[in-house]
Amino acid sequence: MRTKVVAGNWKMNNDINSSVTLINEIKKGLNQKNLNVEVIICPPFTSLETANVLIKDTPIKLGAQNMYFETSGAFTGEISPLMLKSVGCEYVILGHSERRTIFLESNQLINKKIKSAVASGLKPIFCIGETLEEREKGETFKVVETQIREGLADLTEDELKNLIIAYEPVWAIGTGRNATPEQAEEVHKFIRELITQIYSKEFAEKLIIQYGGSVKPENSKDLMLQPDIDGALVGGACLKADSFIKIIESAQ
Ligand code: PEP
Repeated sequence: MRTKVVAGNWKMNNDINSSVTLINEIKKGLNQKNLNVEVIICPPFTSLETANVLIKDTPIKLGAQNMYFETSGAFTGEISPLMLKSVGCEYVILGHSERRTIFLESNQLINKKIKSAVASGLKPIFCIGETLEEREKGETFKVVETQIREGLADLTEDELKNLIIAYEPVWAIGTGRNATPEQAEEVHKFIRELITQIYSKEFAEKLIIQYGGSVKPENSKDLMLQPDIDGALVGGACLKADSFIKIIESAQ
């Protein structure tokens, strides 16, 4: 039985003051609920250290939204895995579609980042998903398979023991148009079968595969009820404590 994992990707939202307010509201909302769901918040870099202090003594975990693969050096503007560890991050989102499309990150670069994250003891939330054009051309499985094979190239089952995969169809991100539970389940099942082929059944059965793309309190329960959907990566709806908490509750 896999524990559901709900992560909130704040993207480039919230300065330090509004980060403090949002975290305190989430803490208050989750207080004494005793839910059997792993909750992760991924604020922007500038709020990570404060977030780490605020979530101490709570079950909430901290993640970053990106990192570079080198550990230090002349890489102006970049953040290393060791820096993320030093401010309390346990997770890091890698390969988000906004990184792929706006910042032109390739499967090869994402592969380097995943290798570096696991070598530093960070748990990757590895995002994959097809565009609308690719879906309409019937290429969804091919695109997802390439992203997985290239993104996880040369990584062993043992190195990936803390991996989370987030299936996020690009056409559903920030659009208000979520995949139906059946559409999402079809791809999640495909991913689990592919992971069985590449690694093993045992590993695939334990792997957490989140769905992401316009998850809201109104649609989250039906998505979470699908057998291969193990939680959600939430964008817009995690910026308000009440909707984020409702999504977490629906995962219970
Ligand atoms: C995301 O950014 O990973 C995401 C799924 O965003 P949204 O929930 O807003 O579609």
